[in-house]
Amino acid sequence: MEIDILKLTVAKAHEDMKAGLYTPKDLFFACKKNIDERNDSINAFLEVFDDAEEMAIRAGEMFQNGTATLMTGIPVSLKDNILYKGHRVSESSKILEGYKAPYDSKAVEELKKVGAVIIGRTNMDEFAMGSSTESSAYGITKNPLDETRVPGGSSGGAAASVAMGGCLVALGSDTAGSVRQPAGFCGVVGLKPSYGTVSRSGLMSMGSSLDVIGLLGKTVECARAAYDVIAVADSLDGTSVSDEMRKAVVSKPVTKIGIPRAFVQMEGVTEEVKQRFFETLEKLKQNGYEIIDIELPHIHYSLPTYYIVMPAEVSTNLARYDGVRFGLSVPGKNPDESYMKTRETGFGREVKRRILLGTYVLSHGYADAYYNKAIKVRHKITKEIEEVLKTVDVIVTPTSPAPAFQFGEKQDPLQLYAADIFTVPANIADIPAISIPNGMNKQNLPLDIQVMGSYLHDQDMLSFAQKLEQIISQ
Ligand code: GLN
Repeated sequence: MEIDILKLTVAKAHEDMKAGLYTPKDLFFACKKNIDERNDSINAFLEVFDDAEEMAIRAGEMFQNGTATLMTGIPVSLKDNILYKGHRVSESSKILEGYKAPYDSKAVEELKKVGAVIIGRTNMDEFAMGSSTESSAYGITKNPLDETRVPGGSSGGAAASVAMGGCLVALGSDTAGSVRQPAGFCGVVGLKPSYGTVSRSGLMSMGSSLDVIGLLGKTVECARAAYDVIAVADSLDGTSVSDEMRKAVVSKPVTKIGIPRAFVQMEGVTEEVKQRFFETLEKLKQNGYEIIDIELPHIHYSLPTYYIVMPAEVSTNLARYDGVRFGLSVPGKNPDESYMKTRETGFGREVKRRILLGTYVLSHGYADAYYNKAIKVRHKITKEIEEVLKTVDVIVTPTSPAPAFQFGEKQDPLQLYAADIFTVPANIADIPAISIPNGMNKQNLPLDIQVMGSYLHDQDMLSFAQKLEQIISQ
């Protein structure tokens, strides 16, 4: 039977395999075929894992002995910053070229337990810093829907891996939008869970207070299926949400939708994005949802706040790449020289820029003016969002101010930073958010819409997102 991966969802694949129409091994080879055909040009995958076929065979046995569940046999790709024991992982940086993961990340551990097939490793902006996957040390990734355009970033390879039919689910990381924005650019769904609901154990750190593993799939249901497997408490992550806290969440159906109108209409958001966004709101209204205008007066400080807090955390987190403990080591006359030469050779431009920025905002004499102030603003924005979410059930905005741009179009780093305007607030405030395709524009590029929910109300947000997905397709 011919398997059309581009039309297949996790639920449908599960049903088919349960009915014996094909096996996880057939499914793996159908994905592999798409990768063989398109990856030379797209470069979403840095590698297909040698043992993926074996995993698929084992998943097949689970179908036979009746232990298969929804994610059994489903091909899943991993962003190049998520640890998978014995396999290479490099942050798409020269500094970790050839480095192998010494243990499994919690997310991979959980996926292995249910028999998911870890198919390969996907390209990304170096150390997850970027919005276009142009800063990888291993070449750019192209948008499978229009190869002259970027796939977004930093999880551009992850989004492209789903959009090209290389897998059904991709794991990415989202520190400020790196799952949602590329999902939007590639016409797939991207979920950023509440901070701490998915363990960061085995996710290489960027901005530890903002980082979370996220999921990409063709539909909300696909992302949700994988989320349900990996969203578990973990004693190895001090910021992991406990079982008690998870159980204490009282589910609340979404009826009231908050729109930060001034934010959505600010300068830089393209006409087509605004127009489609308001058309979709109209459809929501027709479907009985209450649309409520909300004010978030400090939300536009999210971006500057993020670009102080994140580099500060980056500069400390990346100090560990010293030429002694991991990956690349360039010899020098003494340890200091080796340290400098290793970092000079191993890190790319954007990474160095952020280390410098971070070191500056944390330095004596400047920490109060920058870092400590940014932390205060972060609390203020979080409070504001929390208050608003007492009056509405979700907040809806576009995901990106404009659809996928062309390679080299945004040379100025500040222009690239501005692409995160709608996605940053959810990371600042720890809340869950999801990007859903919102039709195509005149050039046939995907547009997107973002839903943000209350902290730990990921399931309520997902249920609403599934309805919104249906409404958009009507
Ligand atoms: N565009 C953001 C940045 O460059 C994305 C970061 C992320 O979510 N990993 O920092």
